[in-house]
Amino acid sequence: MKGKILYIEDNEQNLYLITYLLKSMDYEVIQARSGEEGLACASACVPDLILLDIQLPGMDGYEIARRLREIPMVQQTPIVAVTSYAMVGDREKALAAGCDGYIEKPIDPVTFVARMESHLLQQRDSGGGT
Ligand code: MN
Repeated sequence: MKGKILYIEDNEQNLYLITYLLKSMDYEVIQARSGEEGLACASACVPDLILLDIQLPGMDGYEIARRLREIPMVQQTPIVAVTSYAMVGDREKALAAGCDGYIEKPIDPVTFVARMESHLLQQRDSGGGT
């Protein structure tokens, strides 16, 4: 197993596609379908990276990112926003909320895992984690 990825997403098709891609690359995937579920999972599972949809029912991704950053166990964990919000300013908004990066939907199955891994490696290099 290469690492544990928490994916917070309400769209079943995206959950299926990304889970499939990551499992085929030997990652463990923990799925959460709402912010509340994601926050609970983050402290319980301590993932290596968090993929975060922005458009979710209830709490949106920006709020979830801010709350994730308040959880000591995942304060250094890379958070990558995965969203179809591709408007000017959305990237900045995601970064300001505590995300480390941004991958646009629709997901490109050819490049997705490599793009995610660039954030995983970046954090490990600079963080010197366990
Ligand atoms: Mn969504």
